[in-house]
Amino acid sequence: MSIPKINTKNLFPNISETCKNCNTCCNTYGWLLKRESEKFIKNGYPIVQINKSLFCIDSFKMDSKGNLILDKIPRCKFYKQRQCLIQDEKPFDCKIFPIKVKFYEDTCILGLSLGCKYISNLNDKEKNKLYKRVISFINNYPKKELIEYLDLMYKVYLISKPKRFWMKKLMSFKKNECSWNLISLHN
Ligand code: SF4
Ligand code: SF4
Repeated sequence: MSIPKINTKNLFPNISETCKNCNTCCNTYGWLLKRESEKFIKNGYPIVQINKSLFCIDSFKMDSKGNLILDKIPRCKFYKQRQCLIQDEKPFDCKIFPIKVKFYEDTCILGLSLGCKYISNLNDKEKNKLYKRVISFINNYPKKELIEYLDLMYKVYLISKPKRFWMKKLMSFKKNECSWNLISLHN
């Protein structure tokens, strides 16, 4: 029997069952990779360019002068009735959630958000199995695309106020000139 390849659709088995009763997701800027921003523009989806280099979904409210309120994390405009309206086209950052990344200067820690009910509802055995699954997924993900994603999130980190959240650390990467190299596993 062949084992199905892990991809963004099956990475977190049965997660949608928990999501249906959760409603805490999608308070986010919705950062877009370059090719995603091009696709969003083509589809007529609203996006915003920040700092002349980063693109995100335009879910922002406006102030009384008609300016977008950019410093408040909005709830994504594609989140309706407890689900995402653009499942297949949603950003990679959304597709891999509850995987999250944190940066400490030129080090990136990749892990799982402990604020996600899907993760907190798992027992220890299930958690350990999932940690291995996530590490395997990341290790087998096309390197160029992983670097592209980490570069994007690093640029976001450089312009953002520190955001505190708890996560289970799984992997650490170190930045060099044009890549991110795996330096340790935390599982
Ligand atoms: S926080 Fe986790 S369980 Fe809740 S909606 Fe988001 S992914 Fe689903
Ligand atoms: S694109 Fe979809 S998954 Fe991503 S934040 Fe918006 S509603 Fe949520």
